[in-house]
Amino acid sequence: MKIGKCPVCGKPVYESPKSFSCVGWKDKSCDFTIWKQVSGHELDQGDAELLCQIRRSRKKTDYNKRTKRYEEWRYEVGDDNKIHRVILEEFVYGANGKELVK
Ligand SMILES: [Zn+2]
Repeated sequence: MKIGKCPVCGKPVYESPKSFSCVGWKDKSCDFTIWKQVSGHELDQGDAELLCQIRRSRKKTDYNKRTKRYEEWRYEVGDDNKIHRVILEEFVYGANGKELVK
C-alpha cells in the first residue's frame, strides 16, 4: 500500500513487512527507507506518513528507566536522509511538577 511520497526523490513510498520504502530501491535510484523499528522503538504508519510529508513525526513522551527521566521526542528525517529518534526535551516530575533537565 502506498503511504506517501518519498521526501528525497518524490517517488511513491510503499509499506512492506519491516519497513516503508521508496520504490527507487528497485532501480537503485533512491534508497530511502523508514524501518518499523528505530532505536528499539516502534514506528507506525502514521509516523511514516508524516515523515514523508513534513520529515518529522508527532511528538511522543516516554520514560527512560536508565536515566530515570521522561523524554519528549520525535522521529525526523536527517540531512543524511535516514530516520533518527531525536530527543527534544528531558524532564522529571519534582515537588513543583514538571522540571526540565538540561
Ligand atoms: Zn526516493
